[in-house]
Amino acid sequence: MSLVIAMDGPSGSGKSSASKGVARALGLRYLDTGAMYRAVTWWMLDQGVPVDDPAAVAARAADPVIVSGTDPDAPSITVDGRDVSAPIRTREVTNAVSAVSAVPEVRARLVALQREAIAGGGIVVEGRDIGTVVAPDAPVKVYLTASEEARAQRRARDLAADPSATVTLTQSEQARRDRLDSTRKASPLAKAADATEIDSTELSLAEVIEAVVRLAKEQT
Ligand code: C5P
Repeated sequence: MSLVIAMDGPSGSGKSSASKGVARALGLRYLDTGAMYRAVTWWMLDQGVPVDDPAAVAARAADPVIVSGTDPDAPSITVDGRDVSAPIRTREVTNAVSAVSAVPEVRARLVALQREAIAGGGIVVEGRDIGTVVAPDAPVKVYLTASEEARAQRRARDLAADPSATVTLTQSEQARRDRLDSTRKASPLAKAADATEIDSTELSLAEVIEAVVRLAKEQT
């Protein structure tokens, strides 16, 4: 397998910026698997599927056509041909995504798509279960963490810096999402035994990127 970098960790750990930065630095593609779960969630809400009913979600899991672009400078995601990059970031989707992503039929479908994208190699893949389930053979696995406070601050800073940001998530909503993601039965958020943990609390974005690039050079 050519280079695959698995980047897992909780929300607000700085995964997205770091993953894109690493992909740019090494000339790799970039896959945001969280965006895929958000896209399915957006579609379920749009279709009026009751997202808290796992059987109802499972019954429709095969229907939405999800296409992810893998350019780190212009990541894109469409559902049934419609660009959903903005609507998947709303609070409504963010608060519903953990229920949808806990449904095994949804995971099976998206994991298959993710493995297709990864098959060519040369990619940084960001998510919750990449090192454990999606790409257990990835030569580079990172588990990115940060303290509760750093994660909350980072999110607040992101929102202030980007007036077009549509995610207005309270800390308790974020804590709830992390709890659901780490305690669900199907592929919960977890550090792979062979992943390198990087605590980004005291690190700048550039330092995190540098640490992952160094790891990739050492381990490949
Ligand atoms: O990374 P992001 O916060 O956009 O992910 C949104 C949600 O998608 C997570 O809260 C989680 O429920 C789900 N997810 C997942 N497995 C992944 C990536 C994301 O279950 N590999």
